[in-house]
Amino acid sequence: MIDFRSDTVTTPSDAMREAARDAAVGDDVYEDDPTVNELEARAADLAGFEDALYVPSGTMGNQIAIRTHTDRGQELLCDEQAHVYKWELGGIPQLSQVQPRILDCGDRGVPTAEQVRDGFVAEDLHRPGTGLLCLENTHNSRGGVAVPKADIDEAAAAAHDLGVPVHLDGARFLNACVALDTEPTELTAEVDSAMFCLSKGLGAPVGSMLAGDAEFVERARRIRKLFGGAMRQVGLIAAPGLLALENVDRLADDHANAARLAAGLNEVDGLSAPEPDTNIVMVNSEAAGLTGEELSAACKEAGVKFHAFGEDTCRLCTHLDVDEGDVDEALDLIAAAVADA
Ligand SMILES: *Cc1c(COP(=O)(O)O)cnc(C)c1O
Repeated sequence: MIDFRSDTVTTPSDAMREAARDAAVGDDVYEDDPTVNELEARAADLAGFEDALYVPSGTMGNQIAIRTHTDRGQELLCDEQAHVYKWELGGIPQLSQVQPRILDCGDRGVPTAEQVRDGFVAEDLHRPGTGLLCLENTHNSRGGVAVPKADIDEAAAAAHDLGVPVHLDGARFLNACVALDTEPTELTAEVDSAMFCLSKGLGAPVGSMLAGDAEFVERARRIRKLFGGAMRQVGLIAAPGLLALENVDRLADDHANAARLAAGLNEVDGLSAPEPDTNIVMVNSEAAGLTGEELSAACKEAGVKFHAFGEDTCRLCTHLDVDEGDVDEALDLIAAAVADA
């Protein structure tokens, strides 16, 4: 089975398993775990912030950030396709008692300065005020779009002019950095906090990082405790995370494999796939007379797994555990499955 469901399906390398076994550990609730402390320092450095917090998942990292930045009853601005809004079980109202105000940010998923200003609500007797702008890079539901620094900076500057802080859901922001050839510290320069996942393209089994200034991270640490994310001898899972940070440059391989996959899908009668920015390929099957669900079911039967992502669309992700040969084999299997369907 060739698995393109997500870049989260990778299994840890032997080196990661050894690092887990040999990790120096301590009680991280007392900030006594040297491996976690090292990971937090290195992640902060990499992303260009004063400090960082190790969290069990990207979802928890985002939701901690939202709770840390906002007050109960405020509004949060984000794209209508944002992960924080669409895929986190309504966590914004459930966990922070904050109301999302969604914007249609178009194909690229990032609001213009004007959209930020239009969506902003000033606090007064009747209106709750806007507490946070959330940006996403790469943008998952928009097809792994790598949002350039200039667009992030424009939206962030508009929010800051209105006194609104900015959080970046950067689950795959290192993919954006590699695709755009932009330094991580550049891409985050104008945002106030950023979350990124170790457990996606970087290949760690568990964990994400939430970075910000020291004062933000100190408050976020309390919210992590509140959400049940404070853990004990957690160096065991942080040690593979340190190795994952060495996998940044190889994300370019995933992007090359995604481009190869998209090009091959375009050769299949009835399928079309726009050229991907990063490791996420969106394929449309309308011309083949197949819904997304039908295409994914037929291909699964043939030995290739991926998810439907809308009526006539499926999403395929490349990652550490698929190589060029797997891509070519998958293309043959998909072509045969579509011809038979
Ligand atoms: C995967 C993802 C998350 C959530 O990460 P989990 O570790 O799966 O909770 C958040 N935002 C984006 C854009 C993602 O792709």
